[in-house]
This record gives sequence, structure tokens and C-alpha cells, in this order.
Amino acid sequence: MSTPRDILHRYNIHPNRKWGQCFLMDIGTINKIFQAGKILSGDVVIEIGAGIGVLTRQLALAAQRVIAVEIDPHLVKILHDQFDGCPNVEIISGDILKFDFSSISDYYKTKVKVMGNIPYNISSPVIFHLLDFRTSISGFTLMLQKEVVQRLVSDPDNKNYGVPSVLLQMYAKVDRLFNVQAGSFFPVPKVESSVIQSVFRERPLVDLEDETFFSRLVKASFAQRRKMLINNLKNAGLLKEFSDDDLKSALDAVDIDGKRRGETLSVEEFGNLSNILKYRLTKLR
Ligand code: SAM
Repeated sequence: MSTPRDILHRYNIHPNRKWGQCFLMDIGTINKIFQAGKILSGDVVIEIGAGIGVLTRQLALAAQRVIAVEIDPHLVKILHDQFDGCPNVEIISGDILKFDFSSISDYYKTKVKVMGNIPYNISSPVIFHLLDFRTSISGFTLMLQKEVVQRLVSDPDNKNYGVPSVLLQMYAKVDRLFNVQAGSFFPVPKVESSVIQSVFRERPLVDLEDETFFSRLVKASFAQRRKMLINNLKNAGLLKEFSDDDLKSALDAVDIDGKRRGETLSVEEFGNLSNILKYRLTKLR
């Protein structure tokens, strides 16, 4: 079997920073990520940024279907060269941020699993894109920059807890699985990496009256981290119809002290606060 280094030499590949190309060289780590995905024979897997196909090959041996998405046309050719004889692998040339996960899920009549080693410059947009398609995705196992993973899995009252933690955890169970040393990649990145696994819930942690309102409320609550929650809410455009007393009364109704900072609220508390504010906003109009 070819090693990642053999593939880089054979195709004379020069990593392109524009697309965050850091290829996994360490076969032990590739195996560990693959194992973490717990791929079953009926699974349809979408791999983000398939690169030189090292994880793709493992996935192809285990899954019903692997759809490998890659943006770099040069790597797409190399992936075709390696996998065109492989009936359960499809190579898609394109940007994952424009990828329609629901079309694949609808076609195969199953939720898809998502795997990949994500370029650091698009980590957050990828997570929000996956959230948008969560009804078509069962879960994801992704390697991301360590700090991004810390933010996504963080609990309240922690400096890493913020908008991404609340928005993802409302809809998914998350786990940080393991760290990967920078020396496992070529070229060696300046940042450390971690693997995160996430399983989308059948229903959000709290049944939300309005998901868009919830996202905006969470963003407003963290607008100025050092400020009391009540002050962030007073400044929020989406709550401009509320008087100070209205806000205080809504907070009391869900047993949240407005003097707390947003970063101390649990995901459930954000959900409850969103629902009461949305309900009272509807009555105000
Ligand atoms: N999976 C390979 C590995 O582990 O060795 C490559 C990982 S590398 C960190 C990220 C890969 O994502 C690169 O192959 C890069 O070209 C690709 N990529 C970057 N931006 C992308 C995007 N928006 N959509 C799809 N692929 C992208």
C-alpha cells in the first residue's frame, strides 16, 4: 500500500496554503481518525477535503458509499486517478461550503456521516454549514484546530465557552476525542489539532419557538463578554421593543439573574430565555 509520502512524491504535489493544505503523514493517526468514525457497511460518508485520498481509502473499505469533496482541481485529478476503479467512491470537485448535503441524504434515503481533516481557515464556516444541514447528517468526526475544538465542546463558565459552543451543543452531543501533534502533518502547521466527534440530536436540547431568534439572542448575549447579560440584552437590536422592565420580567420568569454574564448560562438556559422572549415579543406586537 502507498504511504502518504509515496503519493506526494508520485504526483509531485506541492501543498497550497491558499486551501490550507496540511496532509496527514502519520498512518497511525489516519487509522485512529478512521476508527473514531465507527463507519458501518451501510453508511454514506461525505469526506471534506479529501486531499490525496489517504482517509478516503480507509473509508472506501468500510462504507456503502464515500463522497469525497475536494476544492483543488489538481488534487481532484489525483483522486480520480486513484479511485476511478473503486465503485463506491465518488469524487466531487467543489467547495464544501456550497455543498448540498440534503441532496445526497435524499438520494440514498439515509442521513450521512461527515468526516475530514478540515483546513483551519474554514473551520467555523464548515461547522455552521453542517448545522444548517443537520437534518440530513447523523454526525461528524472532524480534525480541527485545537482551539476551535475547545470552543465547540466547552461548558459554561469557561473562557472558551461562546456562541459556537451554544449553537452546536443545542443541536448536537459533542466530544473531544484526541489531540494530534503538528509533526504528523506535511507541511508542519503552526497550530495544534484535535479530533471532535459530534452526533446531531433528533430534537434540540430545548424545543425552540424560533431557531433564528435563538441564534441572534445567543450572539447578542456574548456581544460584550465582560458585560452583564441584562446590559447586552438592552443593547440588542432584536429586543428593541422590550422595556427594561419587560426584560427583567422575562429573565425572572425563567429564573435567570440578569446580573450574570452570558458565559455563565447553560445551553438550556439560553433555550428557555429565547422561548420566553420570543413569546413575549409576539404578544407585544
Ligand atoms: N484529507 C487530507 C489529509 O488529511 O491529508 C487533506 C487535509 S488538508 C488539511 C485540507 C484539504 O481540504 C485540502 O486537500 C484542501 O485542498 C481541501 N479544501 C480546502 N478548502 C476546501 C473547501 N472549501 N472545500 C473542499 N475542500 C477544501
